[in-house]
Amino acid sequence: MNNGEMKKAFAATIAGSDPSAGAGLQVDLKTMTACGVWGMTVVAALTAQNANHVIDASSVEGNFIKEEIKALEEDFEIGCYKTGMLKNAPTVKAVAEALPKGRKLVVDPVLLATKEYRLLDEAGQNKLVTDLLPITTVVTPNIPEATLISGIKVNDAESMEQAAFWFLDQGAEAAIVKGGHAKFRLGTDVYVDKQGVMLVEAEVAPFTDVHGSGCCYASAIAAHIALGLPVREAVFEAKKFVNGAIKYSWEYAPGLRTMNPGWQQHKTYYKRE
Ligand code: PLP
Repeated sequence: MNNGEMKKAFAATIAGSDPSAGAGLQVDLKTMTACGVWGMTVVAALTAQNANHVIDASSVEGNFIKEEIKALEEDFEIGCYKTGMLKNAPTVKAVAEALPKGRKLVVDPVLLATKEYRLLDEAGQNKLVTDLLPITTVVTPNIPEATLISGIKVNDAESMEQAAFWFLDQGAEAAIVKGGHAKFRLGTDVYVDKQGVMLVEAEVAPFTDVHGSGCCYASAIAAHIALGLPVREAVFEAKKFVNGAIKYSWEYAPGLRTMNPGWQQHKTYYKRE
């Protein structure tokens, strides 16, 4: 990464478009670039949204998503994939079928936008559990997502751990239940894999509810896995990265903040007074 030298590594996001570029595949791509890999984008869904609300959303036809993945696979060795908004069950099914066996995969189980818009329907949520989790390297639910998907009411440190293990039982190699929405131990994530439990702590960021933070975190994990780091180390690096992107987040509309994946280059310029 220094002196113009960079390890050649590819990571690809399979996600939805956010035209305001505060979340979705746009923030994924910015994050991957900032983390030093060549990011790629498989468009799986579209939204019409701005800083204030999601106005509409649309899915991309499953066979077309398969074509997009096939096109990348023909030319590139993708070190890690990452999924974001997948909209519905046919989309989830297409992604699960198109991913070649053995590929590293970070699944961000995006269900709802902060702006209260459903980004994955209920059938899609079920399909994610049955078809995607068994091929997942690491899944990254926040507390509301962990609660809705696992059915375990996550409201303390113990239930965070229980929910994380539930994801392992569904076939994921690792799970991280993120503490960004926690009313307890705020900002501490619970990571579990076969070796056991690990707490992922970071300097508490001065803001919560920063748009696109989940997309950014999962993409940073995928980027570091693509660079060759073991999953546990990739999670630590990603946590540092995402914390900086929150700390130096942009107030892109009055009172509304979004991630700043470029914070390492531009932190003094974008820093809040
Ligand atoms: N829009 C798209 C396309 C997304 O992928 C996501 C999150 O993954 C969101 C919106 C929601 O972002 P947030 O809940 O951080 O506002």
